[in-house]
This record gives sequence, structure tokens and C-alpha cells, in this order.
Amino acid sequence: MANGTYRRISSADLLMAVAGGAEELSHADGWPDGVNTLLAGLGKVTGVSRVWIFQKIELTDEYVLQDYVFEWAAAPRHVQIGMPMFSMFRSFRDNPEYETLVQSRLRGEVQAVMVNQLPEGTWLHGNLARQKILSMLTLPIMVDGEWWGVLGFDDCEREYSWSETEMALLRTAAGLIAGAIARNRLSARVRQFHILQGLTDSATWALDWRRGRLWFAGNLAGRWDIPEEGRYFSMLGALRMVHPQDRRGLLQELRFGLGNGATRLRRDVRVRAKDGSFIWVELIGELTLDGEGRPVELSGIAVDIRHRKRTEHKLQREAVTDALTGAANRRTFMREIQDLFDQAMTSNDPLSLLLMDLDHFKGINDTWGHQVGDAMLHQFATFCRESLREGDVLARIGGEEFAVLLPGTDSASAAAVGERIREAVGHAPVQHGDQNIPMTVSLGAATVPESLPGSPLIKNASELFVWADKALYAAKRQGRNRLVRATMDLKED
Ligand code: GH3
Ligand code: MG
Ligand code: MG
Repeated sequence: MANGTYRRISSADLLMAVAGGAEELSHADGWPDGVNTLLAGLGKVTGVSRVWIFQKIELTDEYVLQDYVFEWAAAPRHVQIGMPMFSMFRSFRDNPEYETLVQSRLRGEVQAVMVNQLPEGTWLHGNLARQKILSMLTLPIMVDGEWWGVLGFDDCEREYSWSETEMALLRTAAGLIAGAIARNRLSARVRQFHILQGLTDSATWALDWRRGRLWFAGNLAGRWDIPEEGRYFSMLGALRMVHPQDRRGLLQELRFGLGNGATRLRRDVRVRAKDGSFIWVELIGELTLDGEGRPVELSGIAVDIRHRKRTEHKLQREAVTDALTGAANRRTFMREIQDLFDQAMTSNDPLSLLLMDLDHFKGINDTWGHQVGDAMLHQFATFCRESLREGDVLARIGGEEFAVLLPGTDSASAAAVGERIREAVGHAPVQHGDQNIPMTVSLGAATVPESLPGSPLIKNASELFVWADKALYAAKRQGRNRLVRATMDLKED
């Protein structure tokens, strides 16, 4: 097996094989069939036992996960693809010899190895000898500047010393494979983007960071109120399209977030549409940096999220309101009474509370059915709202029990509001078929600060509630369909 017992490779033949492979790979569908053709062409003219490609699947601090993805073999005995030891195999980087190899591959270096020149007992010697390899040439495949995989040539029947010219030509072959991978990736990305656009109504955009110029495309962008500056326009023009309330937050993120280390943008903003309305979009972008870490371009997509925003608002509303009547729910009432009480104490403005309970409601349900009861509850809430001002809070705090918080309203005005509700309810019976069902309500009222003689001293929000409840109970006891104000006389009830 000494040197000189084999023919040297013809450079002209090798060049032809690389050129033929280039043509195959440059077709749109060159990946992956063109790779097999190229490997076969290279294998035949070089006279090696095997040509192979390992793909780097995962690179972590601890290991490299690779897969044996392509092979051409001169004879069936040289076939290795499909062997379990070469399928998705993990090599651990704590082996210093292997780590040196990894570093060399990451730098994009070519490696030519003569196995009988390797010290015996080394990891690489053992590894190659086990595969009966006499010499091996490996060339990294670099895609977008990153180590993607390895193109390798194994000799099991001769020991071949590769010349500079041969290695340069094979480097070109590795470059051709890398180009086909990059093109394939790109066309996959374009396809994915078209699918995404079809599904989500989105737009693509790119911001030239240094010149502050922006570019848009996509069907969603077609509905935006884009200034008439063509496809490229200024940063200022773009910011004017963003809703004033969302502008400052976006600017701050661009200026202080992305400029300082972060490279991902993810933000919901409203964008002005041609009809003057605003469309909710989610901006998703990534910042690319130059060699010195300075921002170059921020590019990404804008996705229509109107639907999601509507759902969010609906859920928010549902969390604070009662579904049947649209009034605030008990939890919201508890928060509001505390907030409004604290405000009343600091501003020294009055705050009144009306508690209302429908009369003999059990009987109404029993006689007319639950559905009619529900309709009455709904109608009662409507009557209340008609008597209230902006800032008043109507809440359903129990089955047929409601509360109204009246900030800035003294006890006389609160009583007037309560009376108006009571009369409206009493004068408009609920229609059920050709029947009129009468409905009445009892009310209890309490106010802070209370200046009328005989009024209780109320020190906190829960006392306000307790006194209004005492008054309501008194109204029930006195015959219902009436309003009672909280006074010290109710103390013993
Ligand atoms: P009072 O005049 O003393 O208030 O008598 P009442 O029958 O209204 O008093 P009670 O509190 O004993 O009964 C309230 C009834 O309200 C019991 C229940 O059947 C009914 N109710 C509670 N929640 C709902 C609801 O969501 N829909 C309907 N239709 N009825 C309800
Ligand atoms: Mg009740
Ligand atoms: Mg009742």
C-alpha cells in the first residue's frame, strides 16, 4: 500500500465532474437529487472507496449530533449509510481530540488524514482503523457562514495524498452543495411565508436602521394608510401611521430595547387603515447586526390580530360584568365600593349607596317561570341605567339584589335617584304574552359623609354597605315597594 502504487487523479476529469455537478445542483429541484449525482461523479473520477455527507443536526456545549445523509460507494462492501452507528449519532466534546476537530470544522478548514501516520492509540486512529480507512479527506459545508455538515472522501484500498489543486476543486464542490442548501432553505421560507400570509393576513416589512427607511409588502399592508412615497418611505411617515397611544411605547422599544442588546421585537400596535379606522397588528421582527454589533436592519412581519383583540376585550368584559344584566359583578362592586369610599374620604365629596332587592321575586319565578324572572332582571337593570349618570356604578350583587354607587351624590339626591328607579319599575309591568306582570322593588340608602340629623357615623366601606342593608331590610319590613334611608333608629334591627 505504499505511495505510488496508484494512479493520480486527472485534474481535468475532476474539473468536469465538479462542473457537471454544478449544473445539476443549479436546477430549481437540484436538492437533493443533484447531490447524489455530484457525489457519484466525484467518486468515479477520484477512485475513492466512498464519498459521504454528514449533516450537523445539533451542536451544544456537550456534544455534536450528526446524521449520515448522503453516500456514494464504489462497491457494496463500502456502503455505510443506514448503519445504526452512523444514524443520528452523538459525539461528545469532552474528548480533546474530537474537540480540536470540531473547532477546525467550525473554522471551515479542510482535513486530510493518513491513518498510518496517526499515533496509534489515539481516538481518531482507532475510529478510522475500525472502518478500515487508510486515508480520508473532509471538507466542511458552510451555509450562511455556519458549519452545516461535512463532505468526506474515504479510501479503504489505497492511501491517497491529496494535492492542493484537488482539494481546491473539492472545496468548490462543497461550496456548490452549500449553495443548493441555501437556495432550498430560501425557497422553503418563501413557501412557508406564502402559507402564513394566506392564513393570517399579514404584511412583511423591513427597516433600514441606519437610513431610517422603511419598506412594506403584503395584502394586509394594502389596507394601510401608507404615505404616497412609494414602496420605501421615511421612519417618520411610518410612525404617523401608528395610533398615537401606541407610538411612544414602540419608539421606546426601538430606541432603548433593540439598540441595547435585544434583537427581538414583539409588540401589539394599532395601524391606521385607509378608511381612517385602526387595525390591531402584532409586529414581530428581528434585528440583524454587523460585525461590530451595530444594528443594520430590523425586519419581520405584521400580523392582523383584530380577532384576538376582540376576544381579549370580550373576556375582560366578562370577567367584570354579569352576563344576564350587563351590570358589574359582585367582585367588581367590592373593588369599586372600596375605591370610591377612599376617594370620597380624600376629596370630602359625598358618596351614596343604594341597595335594591326585587319584591316577592320567588313568587314571580314560581308563578311565571324562571325565564320570565330572568327577563325581569334584565329589564330592571335597564330601568336603573336610565336613571344613572356617567360615573355611577350599577352592580348585580346577588340573585335579585342590585347595588348602585353614586359618587358626588348626597343623601337627598340619592333618594331622588332611588325613587325614580322605584317608580319606573312600578309603572312598567313586564309583558308576558297578553299578561302584564307587575314588579316592585325595595331600596335602602346610605351616604357618607352624612350631615342629616340622626344619621349614623360611617367609618369605612363595609359600614356603608351594612347601613344600606339595614335600610333595605327596614323597607321590606315596612311593606316593600319603598325606599328607606339609613338612620340611627335602625341600629337595633
Ligand atoms: P322579598 O320581597 O322578601 O325579597 O322576597 P323574595 O321572594 O324576592 O326573596 P328571596 O330572597 O327569598 O328570593 C329571591 C329569589 O330570587 C330566589 C330565586 O328563585 C330568585 N332568583 C335568584 N337569582 C335568580 C336568577 O338569576 N333568575 C331568576 N329567574 N330568579 C332568580
Ligand atoms: Mg333577595
Ligand atoms: Mg327579593
